[in-house]
Amino acid sequence: MKTVGVLGFQGSVEEHLNALGKAGAAGVSVKTAAALNSIDGLIIPGGESTTVSRLLNIFGMTDPIREKIKSGMPVWGTCAGMILLAKNIIGGEPCLKMMDITVRRNAYGRQADSFKCRALIPEFAENPIPLVFIRAPWVEHAGENVQILCEIDGHIAAVRQNNMLAAAFHPELTENTAAVEYFLKMI
Ligand code: GLN
Repeated sequence: MKTVGVLGFQGSVEEHLNALGKAGAAGVSVKTAAALNSIDGLIIPGGESTTVSRLLNIFGMTDPIREKIKSGMPVWGTCAGMILLAKNIIGGEPCLKMMDITVRRNAYGRQADSFKCRALIPEFAENPIPLVFIRAPWVEHAGENVQILCEIDGHIAAVRQNNMLAAAFHPELTENTAAVEYFLKMI
């Protein structure tokens, strides 16, 4: 069985662990650099990217995560996790600087802080799946080597670059496991 770490500082950690269980993987909360050695992949959940970025630095995890990703460990950032993976941020400071994307924080503004919709993401599933956006970012620019998986109203909402997956939405807050199953296939 694949063991998937969920960065456990803050945000929708429990929800990701539950979704992993439903999809047939073992999820473990990860809060130390040493714990990165016993997982097959890492999920960086939604939450507050500025807080998680500070905690990654305080706990000495920023460089170890970067090294693991460079050595091929699959990683998936959802919402704040997408912000943390990006090389460029509009409205904030970059953290892990691994994906060739420019991400606009809180892109949907205050009026539309949160919304739900359904979209067809062919790589994830044959039928449209439910997506939940909570004070979500979008990808303003994606580099040539980045595959765009999903666009909502002309804004990029999910991307993949080699062993890195990023989504602006929260699949772990729906009953649908298509996104987590896609990530498990990357492992
Ligand atoms: N708005 C948050 C940030 O900028 C992200 C929100 C989320 O992860 N749901 O970090």
